[in-house]
Amino acid sequence: MARRRQLYEGKAKILFEGPEPGTLVQYFKDDATAGNGAKKGTITGKGVLNNRISEYLMTRLHEIGIPTHFIRRLNMREQLIREVEIIPLEVVVRNVAAGSLATRLGITEGQRLPRSIIEYYYKNDQLNDPMVAEEHITCFGWAATQDLDDMVALTLRVNDFLTGLFLGVGITLVDFKLEFGRLWENEEMRIVLADEISPDNCRLWDAKTGEKMDKDRFRRDLGKVEEGYQEVARRLGILPEAGPRDMSGPEVMQ
Ligand code: UDP
Repeated sequence: MARRRQLYEGKAKILFEGPEPGTLVQYFKDDATAGNGAKKGTITGKGVLNNRISEYLMTRLHEIGIPTHFIRRLNMREQLIREVEIIPLEVVVRNVAAGSLATRLGITEGQRLPRSIIEYYYKNDQLNDPMVAEEHITCFGWAATQDLDDMVALTLRVNDFLTGLFLGVGITLVDFKLEFGRLWENEEMRIVLADEISPDNCRLWDAKTGEKMDKDRFRRDLGKVEEGYQEVARRLGILPEAGPRDMSGPEVMQ
């Protein structure tokens, strides 16, 4: 079978042309970056685990009626997705103070927030993904007010559902980042959940000990990064049977 055409390479994933019009193949790499690329590394098996974890979470979300770009997982490192027009925003939800919120506002990390907070960041590497307000988003046309309303409604449902799902396996969902895309079907546009949901873009702490099981292990040099991701997959009951140590690179892809 001919190699697929590569359309885009990001920090953690590669997008290839899909088998049918309107589809793409999303390939999960082991590459990890932090601080917008300032820190680079490899987490062995991360791509395999994130592919599985994201498949699992997107499928559970689909079951409760959240529209997503996910179609199906193809193999250890790839999933088939719908091609969407990515809205250039990172939508961050916070339940517990951590990361940039704790640093910026001087709030103790680990403090539960009185209510969940939604923040927007403009996806732009050159500008370091600056935080923006609804005013900037609508003024510069990145999304319309109606799009934002849809995104917020979906984000709150995702947060409620995932908070419960993770708590059920002894994990606190501290915060996470979502991305959305526009999907056109018969002249109608729908906002759907895109990208991935994995320990790369969620903060996941053990509910009892507070131990971190997410990318902060890499960002903060805590060690045992792969083990953290594996533990999340194990608790969700989806640790790949062959193990996450699939070292194949994109070039051996069918
Ligand atoms: N996040 C992400 N991509 C980014 C920035 C943040 O996935 O480019 C996620 C991050 O994993 C965390 C949440 O969004 O779960 C909030 O991140 P924060 O603003 O605290 O930034 P950080 O401390 O990660 O720089």
